Amino acid sequence: MSQPIPFDNSYARLPGHMFTSLQPTPVKAPEVIATNADLAAMLGIDLAAMDAAQVFGGNSVPDGAAPLAQAYAGHQFGNWNPQLGDGRAILLGEVVGSDGIRRDIQLKGAGPTPYSRNGDGRAWLGPVMREYLVSEAMHAMGVPTTRALAAVSTGELVFREDALPGAIITRVAQSHIRVGTFQFFAARGDMGALQALTNHVIARHYPDAAGPADLLDLVIARYAQLIAKWMGLGFIHGVMNTDNVSIAGETIDYGPCAFIDDFHPDSVFSAIDQFGRYAYSNQPGIGAWNMAQFATALIPLMDDRDKAIEDFTAAVHRFPPLYEAAWLTTFGAKLGLADPTPDDAQLITDLLDLMEKDSADFTNTFANLGSENARDQFLDRDAFDAWAQRRHDRAPDPALMAASNPKIIPRNHRVEEVISSGRNGDLAPFHTLLDAVTQPFADLTDDTAPYARPPTTDERVTRTFCGT
Ligand code: AMP
Ligand code: MG
Repeated sequence: MSQPIPFDNSYARLPGHMFTSLQPTPVKAPEVIATNADLAAMLGIDLAAMDAAQVFGGNSVPDGAAPLAQAYAGHQFGNWNPQLGDGRAILLGEVVGSDGIRRDIQLKGAGPTPYSRNGDGRAWLGPVMREYLVSEAMHAMGVPTTRALAAVSTGELVFREDALPGAIITRVAQSHIRVGTFQFFAARGDMGALQALTNHVIARHYPDAAGPADLLDLVIARYAQLIAKWMGLGFIHGVMNTDNVSIAGETIDYGPCAFIDDFHPDSVFSAIDQFGRYAYSNQPGIGAWNMAQFATALIPLMDDRDKAIEDFTAAVHRFPPLYEAAWLTTFGAKLGLADPTPDDAQLITDLLDLMEKDSADFTNTFANLGSENARDQFLDRDAFDAWAQRRHDRAPDPALMAASNPKIIPRNHRVEEVISSGRNGDLAPFHTLLDAVTQPFADLTDDTAPYARPPTTDERVTRTFCGT
């Protein structure tokens, strides 16, 4: 009989000290909250051939799995932490999907590991629901991201500020290798592991790279694209620590992330981000900083280190112009301009300035740009009309605009509302919101229109939490 999950586990074949093999800790009474049938089909996973609650609850490890926790390090809010690692996540193994891409299947919240430090290895329902909703919405909006294959409740309580219902999310990623994974081995001077990791990443994610220098260039290019896409959606990641930077260029670790409603470029939501290091407008600068840390971790692999420092510094300095170009393409498309010119950068900036001045809703301003409704977002309608005339003169493409501006995003207040219902045992709002945010470009219907509405003053979410 074929395996319900067709595992082929390449990370587990790396040197054994790069991870810890271990089993998930079983939970009391796992129940399925959601499974992702389309994603399962793409991955060749036969959901009908398994007891999904038992498998995704970590109680039953499927044949072919090689469960392990990965070691990594990282800069957290700029401070070096030499010892992090999967503290509550367990990689079951990898599968190669129908698109030919290899992906990790990981349980997050599956129990303690040697990297748990003081944590319990668990997750609660709130962050599991948030990650499921936001990662699937990001995918639907065309942003590279980890995905959600399943969410289960555990039938156990986890203890945070309150006793909360436990849950586990099954996360799918092109890999869970981070900048921090490279940093872990570089900091220890473990050249064997650093070389093995580099070879693994090149073969797996960047087969065209001839060595570390190429790898750095290609990661920088992907990361610049990714951050431009976040900016184009008003998305604030919230914890851009180097341990949360995927080497494959995917958005990973949906903690205190948030989408901007009324536009202010200095917006920060995360309660732990006291100084706004990861504010919306700081994300590109932090992106370059994170790539400098990646470059530093690759230096020990180079024979001529002085030359490598020079070359890698130049590579990191290519991040800002790559980002600027990606930003112009992203926002140009949002205005309906397929080939934006440097003059169009001014047009975009002028709109963002007007939006900031009048606290215009980020998503709805762009979603309505082609209609009369856009000016309703502004207090200074004359200023907006003058801007709209300039855009009109550029002959924007309505189809490009429609495909570049989501009508529905997982607004913070809706996500909070769904989590609060879930905590009270009502999962229906989660599923309704999931349906809406996974069709972000569809025309609004009576059912979905409420999700396009910005929060009222009372509904507004001003703080988000890691909620680990
Ligand atoms: P995060 O903020 O989710 O990126 O996590 C940062 C680090 O803390 C990672 O090493 C996690 O594995 C670890 N961690 C977070 N929450 C827990 C938990 N409840 N139990 C054990 N480790 C955790
Ligand atoms: Mg993390």
